[in-house]
Amino acid sequence: MEIISSFHRDLNDMREYYESGKTKQASWRESQLKALRCFLMEKQQHIMEALMQDLGKHQLEAFRDEIGTLIKTLNLALKSLKAWMSGKKAELPQVALFTSAEIVSEPLGLVLIISSWNFPFGLSLEPLIGAIAAGNVAILKPSELSPASSSLLFSSLTSYLDNKAIKVIQGGPQETQQLLEQRWDKIFFTGSARVGRIVMSAAVKNLTPVTLELGGKCPAVVDSLSSSWDIETTVKRIIVGKFGTCAGQACIAIDYVLVENKYCSKLVELMKVWIKKMFGENPQRSKTITRIVNKHHFSRLNNLLADKMVKESVVYGGSVDEENLFIEPTILVDPPLDAAIMSEEIFGPLLPIITVEKIEDSIRFIRSRPKPLALYVFTKNKTLERRMISETSSGSLTFNDAILQYAADSLPFGGVGESGFGMYHGKFSFDTFSHQKAIVRRSFLTDFWFRYPPWTLNKLQLLEECYNYDYLGMLLVMLGLKRSSKGLFANHM
Ligand code: NAD
Repeated sequence: MEIISSFHRDLNDMREYYESGKTKQASWRESQLKALRCFLMEKQQHIMEALMQDLGKHQLEAFRDEIGTLIKTLNLALKSLKAWMSGKKAELPQVALFTSAEIVSEPLGLVLIISSWNFPFGLSLEPLIGAIAAGNVAILKPSELSPASSSLLFSSLTSYLDNKAIKVIQGGPQETQQLLEQRWDKIFFTGSARVGRIVMSAAVKNLTPVTLELGGKCPAVVDSLSSSWDIETTVKRIIVGKFGTCAGQACIAIDYVLVENKYCSKLVELMKVWIKKMFGENPQRSKTITRIVNKHHFSRLNNLLADKMVKESVVYGGSVDEENLFIEPTILVDPPLDAAIMSEEIFGPLLPIITVEKIEDSIRFIRSRPKPLALYVFTKNKTLERRMISETSSGSLTFNDAILQYAADSLPFGGVGESGFGMYHGKFSFDTFSHQKAIVRRSFLTDFWFRYPPWTLNKLQLLEECYNYDYLGMLLVMLGLKRSSKGLFANHM
């Protein structure tokens, strides 16, 4: 009860602050983006420590996937803010004499950002950058499953930012549900489809627009490559795209690999070699692989391996250390397709390889399952490339690499179908938290008589020519030299 009444008070104050127009000012947006950049730079060590505490995430990964990408995004937002905020001229047909039009982005108002634990800074602050750049007031609700990161965001970030406009609220499902009961102008959610449904149901009450950044199973198709350089590069990129990205606990991490039967053993052998080269004989000791976030997820992953036939399909790794929440990089070949490991999102360091007769069969395989957030295809075959683009659907499609698309500000990041909807990153984040308002400026100098009643057949004919942008036709109708086929309506005129 206490939480709810304090929510109400805070939200009312934030709405009033928004109404004052302060957050719409370019100078305010710029100052907040700069303050956010200061937080990332000055608290870099604290952020790394929090990520180490929550996930055992290596400092390099922390910089690569969170601090570095966020600073890069902030630099872009600061450089582009004026251009993003300025109205864009819209073309009108010549028939709209003495009329001009533009599209102006206006903030939505009070927005709620709910994020996940695997990239607790990246997934919280990347959308927040968009919300601030677009001039909104925002509440951020990070995940309770990365408590050190959430607590740092709560205690430290807020001392850098304007607290009348930006607040961090800590809590789990109960607090999130209380937040969801409030009225928002936008909800931006990153997490599972299960909670995504809860978010959408809550949004229905006030018809609140929602962005859902969800997950799913992201396949990597590996075509047979002839050059040994290409093969090795493919293997290295797959390994880092799986085990070297939060230990596979990433929405765009490779979930499973599809490969031709005859090429499988070569791929597995090379993977074994490169896992050892990257993480050493004892990967746990290397301290370069993130640990599993908590006991619940550890048991969930362990259970995926418990199935007898799944266990028999392990060809590499498989050892687990429950006390330290560590799971060794594990490769499986052809686990049963109806086992949980192939029907649920894995979200951990287990990599099934599924063999197909011909690589083209992978298209049917992918199409028969929910549309993935990311699809990766390693190939030099242009025909396969074309077919993948036109015959599959996914949030993104990357050829010959993995994860890379996340760092590209010029690309929209988001899902399709069950992997979510809406998009962000770079200018897309600004647009996600803006309403694109159509502005029309009309002069009093000209006016068409045929837009006013009483309706006549002649006016209908003129309107028809007008919508076809046929100026000659309009002239001919006016001169009585052209009749349209609208005789049909004559009885009503
Ligand atoms: P989650 O859905 O359990 O939690 C996400 C957020 O929802 C958290 O802030 C949590 O506190 C809140 N929450 C949890 N249960 C709730 C409930 N019952 N009612 C209201 N709120 C609730 O997801 P997660 O475990 O944090 O993340 C894993 C999932 O998120 C995976 O499916 C993954 O693919 C997806 N994900 C997607 C992206 C993306 O960018 N598309 C990024 C990271 C994770």
